[in-house]
Amino acid sequence: MLMKILISGGAGFLGSHLTEALLEKGEEITIVDDLSTAKYFNIRKDVEFIKKKVEEFETEKKYDVVIHLAARPSPEDYIEHPVDTALSNSLGTYKMLEIARKSNARFIYTSSSEVYGSASIIPTPETYWGYVNPIGIRSCYDESKRFSEALIMAYHRQYKLDTRIQRPFNVYGPGLREDGTYGRVVSRFIYQALKGEDVTVFGDGNQTRAFLYISDWVDATIKLIYKDGLEGEVFNIGSDKEIKIIELANMIIKLTGSKSRIKYLPPRPDDPPRRAADITKAKEKLGWYPKISLEEGLKLTINWFKGVLK
Ligand code: UDP
Repeated sequence: MLMKILISGGAGFLGSHLTEALLEKGEEITIVDDLSTAKYFNIRKDVEFIKKKVEEFETEKKYDVVIHLAARPSPEDYIEHPVDTALSNSLGTYKMLEIARKSNARFIYTSSSEVYGSASIIPTPETYWGYVNPIGIRSCYDESKRFSEALIMAYHRQYKLDTRIQRPFNVYGPGLREDGTYGRVVSRFIYQALKGEDVTVFGDGNQTRAFLYISDWVDATIKLIYKDGLEGEVFNIGSDKEIKIIELANMIIKLTGSKSRIKYLPPRPDDPPRRAADITKAKEKLGWYPKISLEEGLKLTINWFKGVLK
C-alpha cells in the first residue's frame, strides 16, 4: 500500500537508511531536515525535501505516518548546541505531533537510550524509569527526550493518537559521521585506525556500550511503522551484548590491521558508565532481534569507510 510518510531528520544517518528502505517499499516520502548535522546525504529526485528546522516546520498537508527523527545525538556536539538540541527534542516533537494529530497519522518517535541516564539495571528494560541529572551537561538531550516521551504519551491518552516510541541504543554503520564533534565512538575509532592516528579513549575505557548495526535498526523501525496493535507502546531497539570501550578500540585496531595506539584522554562528564538494552519486549512483541554481530557490522562499516577515505 502506498503511504505518505513524513520524516524529520530524514537526511541524517538513521534517516537516510530508513528512507532507502521505505522507498523500496514504494512509499511516498517527504523529508524535513535543516542539514545542520547531515554529512553523507544526497538529495534525491524521488523524495520531497524541505530544508527547515523541525521546530519551525508547519504544513497543511496530510500524512499517513509521521516519523520524528531529527536530533543532535552526539554528546560533544549537543553539549556545544544545547538550545537547538533541547528545542528539536521538545518543540520539534510538538510540531510533529500536531501534524500527526491533524492527519490522524501513526506517529513514530526515535527517543534514546539516554532517557535511562546512568542506569542501575543493565541490560536495561523499558520499565526502568531512569537516573538522570535534570541540570547536568547532558540534560539538554536526555531530559528533552524524556519530555518528548511524556508529550507523546499525553497525545496518545488525550487524542487517542497511534503513537509508538523506540529507544535506540548506539546504532552504527556506513554513513555515521566520524569527524569533529559529530563523531560517535565507532566511526571515530575506525577513522583514527584507518588513518594510523591515535585511538582516543575517554577515561579508563572500562565504560560499556552495546552496539546495534544500522540494518538491524532499520528492520526494527519498519516493524514499528507497519505492525498493527502497538499504540502507546515503547521499545528498546538495541543490543544486549555489552562491550567495554577499550575492547572496542582494540577490536577495531585488529580488524583494520592498524598500527594505531590507544591514547587515554580525560573522561567525559556524566558519561553513563554502562549501557546495554534488555530487548525481551522487542523480541516478544515485534518479533525482532539483532542479526548482525558486532564483528560483522564493524567489518561492513570499515569497508565503507575505506571507500570514502580513498
Ligand atoms: N568515546 C571514547 N572516545 C571517543 C568517543 C567516545 O572513548 O573518541 C566513548 C565515550 O566516552 C562513551 C562511548 O565511547 O563512553 C560512546 O560514546 P558516543 O559519543 O558514541 O555516544 P554515547 O553512547 O555516549 O551517547
